[in-house]
Order: sequence, then structure tokens, then C-alpha cells
Amino acid sequence: MIFQPLRLASLCALALVLFSLPTFAVDDERVAQFRAANQGKIITVLGPIDAESAGITLPHEHFFLDLSLPFDDPDRWVRAGRRAPGGAEDRSVYDLELKLDNWAEVYRVLWRTKDPLVLDDFDLAVEEAGAFKAAGGATVIDVTSKGLGRDPERLALLARRSGLHIVMGTGWYREGWRPIDFNGMNVDELADDMVAEIVEGTGPDKIHAGVIGEIPAMDLATEPDSNDVKQLRAAARASVKTGAALTLHQWVGDGERLMKTLDILEAEGADLGRVIVGHVGGDAPDQLDILAAALARGVTLEFDLLGVAFLLAEKVSDTRGAADTVAALVKQGYSDQLLLSQDVCTKTQLKAYGGNGYDYVLTEVVPYLKGIGVTDEDVEKLLVANPARLFSIAP
Ligand SMILES: [Zn+2]
Repeated sequence: MIFQPLRLASLCALALVLFSLPTFAVDDERVAQFRAANQGKIITVLGPIDAESAGITLPHEHFFLDLSLPFDDPDRWVRAGRRAPGGAEDRSVYDLELKLDNWAEVYRVLWRTKDPLVLDDFDLAVEEAGAFKAAGGATVIDVTSKGLGRDPERLALLARRSGLHIVMGTGWYREGWRPIDFNGMNVDELADDMVAEIVEGTGPDKIHAGVIGEIPAMDLATEPDSNDVKQLRAAARASVKTGAALTLHQWVGDGERLMKTLDILEAEGADLGRVIVGHVGGDAPDQLDILAAALARGVTLEFDLLGVAFLLAEKVSDTRGAADTVAALVKQGYSDQLLLSQDVCTKTQLKAYGGNGYDYVLTEVVPYLKGIGVTDEDVEKLLVANPARLFSIAP
């Protein structure tokens, strides 16, 4: 019993770490030193590495995260764009635990559950990461942003244990996972926070972030700026300052939002050549004109939902459609602006629970692409050269 207050105190301390923003800005001279020392290098959780040694790289994954929401905090559900739960039926869905014999049932109600939306088993992460390494992989960009259960110390431990290079993201995820004081932060304060995480590191071990994102670009209301717009502007400024890449969370849809996002980033001076458009998926064949327009502005398209289970209503997770589009874009000459990943972010995607795991791109997608005529040279660009260029600090 005596441990109870202590435990409470440490929980409060943890909450403060998770939900507070640093109040200092790194001075320009220090940032310049950082860039001079690290240009051409990728900033991993164990320190900088030469981009040429990164090898096969997954640009958009998650090892430890919590996408669930508290059952009795309806405000968080509404802010996350989900219907708030209530009543016995919702409770039993919320309490579902994923097992091999209820996979399909859970998958259909996935975003209303808790346990399947949490990745927190360290030994399992080591095992699942090992499958990617065994298939020839070397580096993983973990884009778990803050408020989503990002855990710098465990990522560093996982990098040591798995032998993989791991890069950590910075910035905040969507509205439902942001701290209350986010509303009071201005663009420069948010940018300072991201810059500090990249240049000085975070937490007691000063672990450095190496990429900005994943940054949500969902609510683009301006005048006044929505929190997403505020953070987009901040992310652009942080990218300009540090030379780190910026990776986006949004859905392409009719392209209007994507173009507005790129306008906002450009207005802040961002180099769109360092911007990655995430979550391009199986609905891409309907969007080829939009995607071509985005590519012409210099961005990289990330097909990062490969192997996510297919539901009839979710064209975005149609892996075959996505892979065919990748091949079509390669044939059109865009192989320097494409990336492949799996966005593992729920237990349903882990091998231990019947999912495709972290090696699906290498074991399934790459052989398929080669089978439909994508050359070894182009595959190497998608897996190695493009990530090395994008995730290294710009000169
Ligand atoms: Zn995302």
C-alpha cells in the first residue's frame, strides 16, 4: 500500500513528460553546428549513421504505440472523429481481446476496441522486427508521433536488441491524442519543440528524433488556423531549420486537401523534395492525375498500407491495386519519388496474431513487383536509395 502514492506520483510525472512541451528554443548557432556535423547522415535512436549504410529501409512503421481511447472520455472520441461509445454492447466490443480465432470479428470493429490497438510487448517487438531483419532489412523509420505512446527509451533498447537502425519521429498526432495545452501553443513554440527533439534529443537519455511526423493534415481550416494547420506550419519551419524530412498523415481523396497541404508547407518555405505523402494506397488508380500533379511538385509518394487486410469498403487497403500503381508510376519514370511500407499499427498486423508483419514488403510485394516487370534497379531505389536520400539530414 505504501507504494500507492509513489506509483501515483510517478504516473503523474510520466503524464507530464507525455503531455508537456519544452519551453526552450535551440539557438541558431547550435542548429547550424548540428547540420554541419550531420549532413548526409540519418539520425537514429542510437546516434547518427551514414546514409549509405542504412540499407533496406521501411519508411513508415510503428513498434510501440497506443491508438486506443479511454472508454469513458467521449470528448477524446469526438476529437478523434470516432463515435463515442456507451452501453453494454459497445463495452463488450471495447473489451474484445485479439486472438487467432476471433481475428475477423475484431477486424470489423477494430477502431472501437482497446487491446488490439495497443502495441506494448517488448519481446514480441523484438521477434517481429527480427522477421524484417531476416528478410534482409536494416532500418525502420518509426513515425509514432507524441501522444500515441511513443517511447524513446524502448525504441533505443529495441534497436540494440534487434540490430536494426531505428529512426524516431517527432510532432503530435491527430486531435484526439493531443494534450490540452496544444491549443495554447503557437507555430514557433511547436516548431521549437520539434527542432529541440532533433538537435538536442528528448528524455533522460537525450534520444534524438530523426524525422518530422507522422504529421496529420486532416483539418485544414485557416483563419484562424486549425491545430493541424498550426502544426503543419511548424513542421515546415522545423524541416527548413534542421534539414530533416517531413512525413504526412492524410488521405489523398479528391486531392484538394493534399494540394492545400502542399501550399501551406510551401508558403512556410519547405522543400517539397523532403516531404513524404503517406497513406497512398489501393485507391490510387482513381487518383493518377492528382498523384502526378503532386509528384510534379517534388513530393515523394509513400505506399505504406501494403498488406493491410482488405475490407470491401476500404479501397485504400487494396494491396494489389497499390502495387500495380507503384509499377505504373515506375514505368512513367517516377521511381525516385516512391516508397514502400506496411504501417504496422495494430496487433492484427503482427505475425503472432495472424497478420503480415514487418517483412511483407520484402517477402511478398517485391517479388510481385519484379514479376510484373519492375527492374532490380528500380526496386533498389524504392527500398534503399530513396529512403537514404530522404531520411538523411539535408546539407
Ligand atoms: Zn498515419
